[in-house]
Amino acid sequence: MTESIYILLGSNKGDRLKNLDSALQQISLHIGKITQKSSIYETAAWGKTDQSAFLNRVIEIESKLLPEALLDKLLEIERSIGRLRTERWGPREIDLDILFFGDLEVTSEHLQVPHPALQNRRFTLIPLAEIAPNFIHPILHKNCLQLLNECTDTLEVTKFL
Ligand code: AMP
Repeated sequence: MTESIYILLGSNKGDRLKNLDSALQQISLHIGKITQKSSIYETAAWGKTDQSAFLNRVIEIESKLLPEALLDKLLEIERSIGRLRTERWGPREIDLDILFFGDLEVTSEHLQVPHPALQNRRFTLIPLAEIAPNFIHPILHKNCLQLLNECTDTLEVTKFL
């Protein structure tokens, strides 16, 4: 059976909608079928508040790639859309994070799945709970809607599109 894989897309630099669209196109071309897409949400920047707001959305995909190979492809797509890895938490054309890879747990030098911070961030949980409210976090054993209801993050997240 194919695993349900959830990916968070974020952009706060350049033409943010265009960056999200290019990432979707490249994901379906190089990675696999996109089976669900959340709405797009706008969120004040996290970690650093002196930069412009992010657009975020979560997608569900199917792919035959293993997690590390998936990460490599996502990093290639980030590079091709023009992100320069200079400043941590600085502005970025596109950021692609693996949230869940089915029930798999991965801890390696380059990759941690489920994403270790997803339960702390409303900008992740709101789009995630929109498309996967009943998906159960394989370590925390709570579904995404419960995680959202219990999240104490106060950043404002508003529906954009
Ligand atoms: P950042 O600059 O915060 O986007 O971090 C990107 C780096 O985080 C990547 O180069 C990955 O090696 C690492 N990373 C660890 N876990 C994950 C994950 N679940 N999804 C995406 N990147 C991850």
